[in-house]
Amino acid sequence: MNISEAIACHSRLVGLSDSPQADVELLLCHVCQRSRTFFFTHPEYQLSETEAESFESLLKRRESGEPVAHLTGSRGFWTLDLDVTPSTLIPRADTECLVEKALELIPHSTARVLDLGTGTGAIALALASECPAWQVTGIDLVAEAASLAEQNRNRLGLNNVTILEGSWFEPVDGQYELIVSNPPYIDPQDPHLQQGDVRFEPLSALIADENGLADIRYIATTARQYLSDGGKLLFEHGYDQTAAVQEILKQLNYTEIDSAQDYGGNDRITWAT
Ligand code: GLN
Repeated sequence: MNISEAIACHSRLVGLSDSPQADVELLLCHVCQRSRTFFFTHPEYQLSETEAESFESLLKRRESGEPVAHLTGSRGFWTLDLDVTPSTLIPRADTECLVEKALELIPHSTARVLDLGTGTGAIALALASECPAWQVTGIDLVAEAASLAEQNRNRLGLNNVTILEGSWFEPVDGQYELIVSNPPYIDPQDPHLQQGDVRFEPLSALIADENGLADIRYIATTARQYLSDGGKLLFEHGYDQTAAVQEILKQLNYTEIDSAQDYGGNDRITWAT
């Protein structure tokens, strides 16, 4: 089997995946340890017998629903390649908007930053890679997630990041110029939880009580004692939660409350001072 024939197998994922061709290309990169560019320039490359066998076995697993990031063990986020396991949320492109906004909100070269529910470490590591003088702390309740984030931090050599295990603010004290979080925010009854990649992700990273708003409310309430004077709080949330999140922040006397959309044009992030 050559590369063109292998890529043509993406037809087996049509109707099962939103991105059949990209999925197959990422599986091939993983199996052949080559870049996507290599495949474009070498369509005649012949897969070895071992490569063809691994490709077929991963494609079968993808056909049965497993996320590509679990099959390859990695996912690109911002400019970084992150190790991913089934113990965390798979980083999403939508969350890169939160990183962009954080960089815009905090123009200082130095800042103390908290990332609550860091998972793979995606947000903390992306911010730290852009701002070497920032001190970024990523926290996760789940021991496997905290050790995965630590592994990503070490592999990327981002020494300005500290990863801690604990519940929200529990392992830290002091004041922060920026607190960010992509917390669980899906309503436990949401039918979206029964579809696609999300079925293979930990529910603890996805769902929250109070129609998905309970963790956002807890963080917004508690963050007040951890924010420096003029410090910013920035959340990712569901596309239909902007008004509710703004209302929570208003009730807690936050100021300069504002929201923005993700690259897909859905309301996705809200921040306040
Ligand atoms: N945006 C993700 C989804 O809809 C959920 C992320 C989260 O709950 N923090 O699948």
